[in-house]
Amino acid sequence: MIIATDMPEVSKCAATQCAYNADDACHARAITIGDGADPDCDTFFTNSKHTRSSRTAGVGACKMEDCKFNDDFECSAESIQVGHTGKSNNCLSYTH
Ligand code: SF4
Ligand code: SF4
Repeated sequence: MIIATDMPEVSKCAATQCAYNADDACHARAITIGDGADPDCDTFFTNSKHTRSSRTAGVGACKMEDCKFNDDFECSAESIQVGHTGKSNNCLSYTH
């Protein structure tokens, strides 16, 4: 069974080294934001191959309970962007 669900779009991602990244965009089906206390992309991983998908990723889950867009451990923003802050790849829409 295919589960249909509405998710905020990942409109851009600057982590070009991530296996889900192509053309500065994320093509995972859904990502999870939140890694410990930081709004990092928890789906990030590197691989010699990159995805062949052209779909636009959604935010499937977010652990950043202290973000103003977080509602019941999910993101309620219209869309988010992921980018670099220091060495990590995190949600640039995170608003404490
Ligand atoms: S949003 Fe996360 S999973 Fe998607 S390309 Fe960026 S770092 Fe990778
Ligand atoms: S905007 Fe806030 S709630 Fe949405 S993914 Fe980013 S950190 Fe999580």
